[in-house]
Amino acid sequence: MSLILFDTLERSLHKLSPMDGETFRFYCCGPTVYGPAHIGNFRTFVLQDLFRRVLELGGLKTMHVRNITDVDDKTIRDSLKTGQPLTEFTAHWRDKFHVDCRALNCLPPHVEPGAVDHIPLQIEMIRTLISKGHAYAAPEGSVYFKVSSFDNYGRLSRLKERELKMGSTTSSDEYEKDTLADFALWKARKPEDGPNYWPSPWGEGRPGWHLECSAMSREYLGDTFDLHSGGVDLIFPHHENEIAQSECCTGHQFCAHWFHITHLLVDGAKMSKSLGNLYTLSDLAERGFTPAEVRYVLVAAHYRAQLNFTFDSLLAARSALAKLAKAERALAQRGEVTAAPEYDLMKGVGPGPFVEAWESLNNDLNTAEALGQVFVALKVFKPDAMTSEQAAAAHCGLHFILAAFGLILPEPEEAADVPEEVRSVADRRWAARTAKDWPLADTLRKELDVMGWIMKDGKESYDLNPK
Ligand code: AMP
Ligand code: ZN
Repeated sequence: MSLILFDTLERSLHKLSPMDGETFRFYCCGPTVYGPAHIGNFRTFVLQDLFRRVLELGGLKTMHVRNITDVDDKTIRDSLKTGQPLTEFTAHWRDKFHVDCRALNCLPPHVEPGAVDHIPLQIEMIRTLISKGHAYAAPEGSVYFKVSSFDNYGRLSRLKERELKMGSTTSSDEYEKDTLADFALWKARKPEDGPNYWPSPWGEGRPGWHLECSAMSREYLGDTFDLHSGGVDLIFPHHENEIAQSECCTGHQFCAHWFHITHLLVDGAKMSKSLGNLYTLSDLAERGFTPAEVRYVLVAAHYRAQLNFTFDSLLAARSALAKLAKAERALAQRGEVTAAPEYDLMKGVGPGPFVEAWESLNNDLNTAEALGQVFVALKVFKPDAMTSEQAAAAHCGLHFILAAFGLILPEPEEAADVPEEVRSVADRRWAARTAKDWPLADTLRKELDVMGWIMKDGKESYDLNPK
């Protein structure tokens, strides 16, 4: 079985397989590190993680590249506000992003390049684009991509079918979605950039945001790779511009498939920093919700469906996870399971009785349907009526599906009577421990001690007991 996915460029479903016959190579646009990522951003990153897990559990090798945007209008603006050097400021938010990714059980990408470390590559690309007549230097020292020089401009976002205002040039990283304009590849130094500028053949300045992904994907994945992904807001102009830059520079197709994730909404509006309607993992931990509950909410809806974030959905996630944990425990007991299940589809040990859920995941990552099928199957199973072998096989199959979702189950019996404030501290300690932040983990352990609780660390989760 191989994964079938909706391709934004073709607007149709496609069976995915690595173009080199070996490794599925994909690129995800990463975070802009100027503050904590919100759970809207994490809808995208968690779905990309699920995508990778399904490919790998299906037996494919992957190469996952995700960049860090550590220089752009916003990172420069906010680092100057704090008075910190840009690299120090962005390193802080990059590290926080990593802590949250681990708490959400996202696999780290194989390569995670930062834009600042790849400025010479970006300059090289601009040189090539100028020499091929696709870019021009403006008198003030900026360099622009000439949109009219690329016939295929607008294919991904179907620009020809939309009414567009014609602009001449734009130097803003995120410009109006209904304006077609030559965009900046290199931005001449401005006083408001402070000390954040680099030398180039066109004078001091810095690269435009769109260019970094073209340069870094080429460096780590080659001229053409299997798939490119991001949230839907990136389709235009960011991904359209990436295609234009890359294809004009290399003369080859940029990537075979495009995978875009629909936005997480709050009260019907996109969750975003600019609208001030965002929640971070820390906000939710303060209200007693665990990263596993957040992950459940994010994966429970199909990636192309709108998902409206509510606290009720987090409570529903809590009860769904408790149900799964109870079922897992019953199957383990009946199956007399003593070790972690060893599934491997290549050896024929896969989803077992949860095969329908696995099929749904492979059918355009239909997570909503797959979860429904897991619960239907669990309703039908009566562990007491199963042989120990049947229960052990079902237990292994359940773990296979949970691994595809990246879900870690809570300890069932403890969930009910631990006070919310205790669980919140314990979750923060677990996140700190996973992030190897030992001083913070120790402080939080002491806090739990004062509250009268002992936390015992397991491999995938923890136990809480009153002193
Ligand atoms: P940024 O840090 O703004 O560059 O965004 C990182 C990723 O999060 C990009 O792929 C965005 O498309 C995605 N994103 C931003 N807001 C949301 C949202 N509300 N829901 C889902 N994805 C989002
Ligand atoms: Zn990008």
